[in-house]
Amino acid sequence: MAKVYVVAEHREGKLKKSTFELLGASSAAGNETHAILLGDGVQGLVAELGQYGAKKVHLVQNPALKLYTGEAYANAVAELVKSGSPDIVLASHTPTGRDFMPRVAARLGVGLASDCTSLQFSGTNITVRRPVYAGKATVEVEFVGSGPKMATIRANALGAPKQGSGSAETVNESPNLGTLKTKAMDLVKGSSARPDVTEASIVCSGGRSLKNSENFKIIEDMADVLGAAVGASRAAVDAGYRPHRDQVGQTGKVVSPTLYVACGISGAIQHLAGMRTSKTIVAINTDPEAPIFQVADYGIVGDLFTIVPLLTQEFKKLKEH
Ligand SMILES: Cc1cc2nc3c(=O)[nH]c(=O)nc-3n(C[C@H](O)[C@H](O)[C@H](O)COP(=O)(O)OP(=O)(O)OC[C@H]3O[C@@H](n4cnc5c(N)ncnc54)[C@H](O)[C@@H]3O)c2cc1C
Repeated sequence: MAKVYVVAEHREGKLKKSTFELLGASSAAGNETHAILLGDGVQGLVAELGQYGAKKVHLVQNPALKLYTGEAYANAVAELVKSGSPDIVLASHTPTGRDFMPRVAARLGVGLASDCTSLQFSGTNITVRRPVYAGKATVEVEFVGSGPKMATIRANALGAPKQGSGSAETVNESPNLGTLKTKAMDLVKGSSARPDVTEASIVCSGGRSLKNSENFKIIEDMADVLGAAVGASRAAVDAGYRPHRDQVGQTGKVVSPTLYVACGISGAIQHLAGMRTSKTIVAINTDPEAPIFQVADYGIVGDLFTIVPLLTQEFKKLKEH
């Protein structure tokens, strides 16, 4: 059994689903599972962390942590890890996790396995798998040496745990945040109400074949029926059809949803690098030889302008029943 710290991620008073995945996986493996909760006025989130498997929540409330900065988070987490000596420290591989976790590892002088797609506990150690060479291969990583084993895990990689009725003990902490050189002044929200591609359990993506930004409406309509995020290939982003935050791939975001629907996307290796670990891949393409079909679980050879609205209609009917 290991002592595991999970750094909880939250925004606007809501915990991220990916945090629950980490807590669920750790507690299901029988570990002594703690959460680290940083923020200001966030004590209301402790109960939910307990329901997903945290036995203790190390709560740090400080105005400097109200809005995320990598510096303050890294300092706080590093101090808590030094004083609590967990065997394992986990965070989600989100833009936040991939920002502060390497800083924590550097401050502690230990290794970090980032962007992992699987995680196995054994005693006080972990074995993880992570994609390399733009997703063409996967390496298994084991930790050697002393010090905590640190890893960031992709959202949706471990599966959604069930919410239980457990409760967590709150441990109020005041780690030394040091002299901070940065301060977040404001959080300017994006215009989209849809989930981010890295967090959604369904992603509907479109490519260059959409021809313009207006035509993306058919992808948005399908996404809205499914409660999905809208993604895009780099060609679609470069052409100005979608904002860069929607780009999936090597130079965009890496996603691992339960369902990825690629509409009019050829399946270039740089796009596959961002989505090939999706659980189920559906591809719609007019070209039966398009490389995307090599990774797709289900392929539809046809015109997306016909197929996508038909699928949207059918999904609507299914949801109404
Ligand atoms: C260093 C580097 C980094 C890169 N990073 C990324 C990245 O992060 N993400 C990324 O996506 N790309 C990336 N690329 C670009 C990548 O190589 C491809 O150029 C890009 O993914 C192609 O986008 P696409 O599939 O939308 O367009 P295309 O390759 O033009 O494919 C369009 C597809 O749509 C199909 N089609 C056309 N009309 C229809 C229709 N009506 N209905 C259905 N199907 C239709 C065609 O058959 C074709 O397969 C990168 C490239 C480089 C060199």
